[in-house]
Order: sequence, then structure tokens, then C-alpha cells
Amino acid sequence: MIATSTKHIQSEYDVVVVGGGPAGMAAALGAKEAGSDRVLMVDREKEAGGILLQCIHPGFGLQHFKEELTGPEYAQRFLEQVLEKDIDLACDAYVLDIDKDKRVKLMSGSEGVKVISTKATVLAMGARERTRGAIRTPGRRPSGVLTAGLAQKFVNMLGQLPGHRAVLLGSGDIGLIMARRLTLEGVAVAGVFELMPFANGLNRNIVQCLHDYDIPLHLSTTVVDIQGRDRVEKVTVAPVDEHLTPMMEKSWDIECDTLLLSIGLIPENELSHQLQLRIDPVTRGPVVNSMMETSMDGVFACGNVAHIHDLVDFVSQESLLAGRNAGWYVTQNRPPADNIRLIPGENVAYCVPHTISSDRNHTVYMRVRRPMQDCVLRLSDVYEKKIRYAFPAEMVNLKVRPKILENFHGDTLRVDIVPQEQA
Ligand SMILES: Cc1cc2nc3c(=O)[nH]c(=O)nc-3n(C[C@H](O)[C@H](O)[C@H](O)COP(=O)(O)OP(=O)(O)OC[C@H]3O[C@@H](n4cnc5c(N)ncnc54)[C@H](O)[C@@H]3O)c2cc1C
Repeated sequence: MIATSTKHIQSEYDVVVVGGGPAGMAAALGAKEAGSDRVLMVDREKEAGGILLQCIHPGFGLQHFKEELTGPEYAQRFLEQVLEKDIDLACDAYVLDIDKDKRVKLMSGSEGVKVISTKATVLAMGARERTRGAIRTPGRRPSGVLTAGLAQKFVNMLGQLPGHRAVLLGSGDIGLIMARRLTLEGVAVAGVFELMPFANGLNRNIVQCLHDYDIPLHLSTTVVDIQGRDRVEKVTVAPVDEHLTPMMEKSWDIECDTLLLSIGLIPENELSHQLQLRIDPVTRGPVVNSMMETSMDGVFACGNVAHIHDLVDFVSQESLLAGRNAGWYVTQNRPPADNIRLIPGENVAYCVPHTISSDRNHTVYMRVRRPMQDCVLRLSDVYEKKIRYAFPAEMVNLKVRPKILENFHGDTLRVDIVPQEQA
């Protein structure tokens, strides 16, 4: 990576971006592009780049750069632009607090505790992985139980193997990628176990990370016991019935020294809670309008803080928009307010943004609750689009243009994804 030396942090900025991952970098560029002179991006790590720095596999940037890059390559391209645009960067600096007047309190090795005044803030703190406690896996508490992302950091950044024989619980993308990575490093991967009857990762990862390496995927199966005193010695797995209750009589043991968990991400939302932002109970991120502005004036959110993304390209796209709007907020140049609220209907878990305006283009991101083939995405009775398939693991996105809302005069638009025969 290119060096990201911290400049002297000023005490006043137009826009402060919290988080220097792909969301933060794109937001900082967006704010600058929209005319904000003084932009600061803060990250608690020693280098900007976020989770991308540990993702040394390819698969990033196909949409944004039209070529396949690794995570660090994708991050580097953005970081070069950030440095070119004279955006101040504070790494190794942790944002402790943001108050109601948008004063940002941070703690850094070089500057100690500092309070910065700012006109607008962009929250881009990413997400954290769910751990064993979140799903209450029974059993003893030996070492060797860790999240897939942490194992990825050990292997790819620190050059350390987490164990010799691993079982994976959960079929999220990080777990699938780690199943392949560990196999390449000589670790025996006994299998991936998924509670739901469908996989939770992108189809391309199922094929490239499991099928290509003959790693079995057991759907409707979960870990029901962890055994071992100091270190994991074996785990017990069992199939589940239609109510997701384990069928213990059909359980079996697998000898292993490592259990990796890939059971989902949660938006990193301490600061959003401190600011008492309105939170969507489904995304667990802040409710945002089409400018990616939260329920607090001048506070914007994007990337995995707002909702969990599967492709980084969409993170960059959404975050550029959030940053631009933060910039326009500062220069008093903001677009007119939204006039339509989106309501998730049949088989739609959530829609982001939560509101849109009928007079400009939007990209609406959503996730389905259950897999469906040959379906129709319907916006109330004004628009329909055929979709070949929709999986909970793959975000669906829809371009909403003013033309399709020409004849719509309401203030709530219901979004459904239904089988073609019901449409
Ligand atoms: C293991 C893994 C594999 C992936 N594989 C792919 C892939 O193959 N292709 C693809 O397109 N996408 C992939 N993704 C998805 C993509 O990388 C993420 O969607 C994207 O990184 C999210 O960007 P973000 O900026 O929101 O969050 P992050 O990248 O998590 O960045 C958040 C940043 O905020 C900082 N931060 C948090 N809190 C604070 C604070 N209080 N103060 C200061 N700094 C703070 C963190 O240090 C971090 O640097 C993968 C993700 C993971 C986790």
C-alpha cells in the first residue's frame, strides 16, 4: 500500500468522515467533489483501506473499474485519489464520540484527545462480525473458536494459521472464502454447515470456493456442541427440522481443532446509537433518505454502517453519493427533500434508501427474505421488472427514474418481489 502519513489535524473542518474503508474513501472524495474545501477522513487503523486490506483474493471492482482486482488493489486506487485531492487523513485515530453539535472527539497516538468542529459528518465505520454468543452455540469454551474474518487477518496479514483441521459454521461469503484459503494453506476443511436450507453467500463463491475444492456444504445443519478442554477437539453437528430445531438423534461428531464462524455482520453503530439516530430494525443501520442523510440533519451514513453489502463496488457508488450530499449540505446546495417513502412488501426484507424523490434518479438496494426464481419486482402499481432469480445473499438493486413515477401521486410506494404467476 502507499504510505498514508497523517497530516496535522486542524480543529475545524467542513466534513469529517469517520472510517477510511472503501465507504469512507469514496465519501471523502464525494465531499471534495461537491465543493467542500476542508475534508478530514479518520481511521482507527494504522492504514486506510478497511476490510479490503485483508481480502487478498480477486473479485473486487468488476463493476466500478471494469476489471478484477484484489482488495488491497481496489483500496489503493481510491487512496491515491484521496491523497491527490488533498483530503486530510488521520490514521491510528479513534473517533470516541460525536455530539449533537457535530463536534467530533477523537483520540490519536500523535495528538492525544482532540475535539474537531465540523459542519457535516459521514459515518462510514463498516461492520463487525457476529460471534458465538450471538447464536448461543452450546458447549465448552476452549480456544480455537473464532470468526472467519479474524482468521483471514491471521492468515493473510500476520502469516499465522488458526489450526490444522477446521469446521465452518455459516455459509457467509467470508467463510466460503476462508474455506478455500485454508485449503490452499494445507488446512483440512471438513465442511461448511449452514442452518438455513439455502446458502448465505454469493453463488460465485459457492462455486469457486467450495465446489472447485470439493468442500462439502451441509444445508439445514448446525453445530450443537463444542468439545475440548484447552483447545477444540471435536464439534457435534446435527440436521435441523423445518422449525430449525436440531434433530439430535441424527447428530454426528467431527474431529477438528478449529471452528470458524461466518454467521453474519452487524453495522458498527456505537456512534449512531450515541447520536440517537433512528435505526432500521432489519438493516440495524441508520434510517437514511435518498441523500444518505440520517435522522439527524447533516449526519450522513454509507457502506456497511448503513446496511451490509456483498459487493464493494456498490459501497463505493453509495458512499460517493453520501459524500457529495455532505458536501452540498455544507455549501447550501442540497437537492429538494424526498416525497416518497418506500415500504418493504412481500419477500422484501428492507429497502435503502428509506425515502426517495420523484424528481431525480435513484438506486434502491434491497434484500429478499427467501430465494425465489422467475419473479417480478413490483413498485406499487406503477412499475414491474422481471428478475430471473433472487437470493437473500445477493443484494437486488433497482434504478428508479422520474419517468417511471410520472403517473404516481401518492407518498408511499410498496416494493414487492413475487413469483411471475402472481404478478
Ligand atoms: C472477508 C470479506 C471478504 C469480502 N470479499 C469481497 C469480494 O470478493 N468482492 C467484493 O466486492 N466485496 C467483498 N467484500 C465486501 C466489501 O469488502 C465490504 O462491503 C466493504 O469493505 C465495506 O466497506 P466499509 O468502508 O463500509 O467498511 P470497512 O471496510 O469495514 O471499513 C470501515 C473502517 O472504519 C474504521 N472505523 C470503524 N470505527 C471507527 C472509529 N470509531 N474511529 C475510526 N475509525 C473507525 C475501521 O477501522 C475500518 O477501516 C468482502 C468483505 C469481507 C469482510
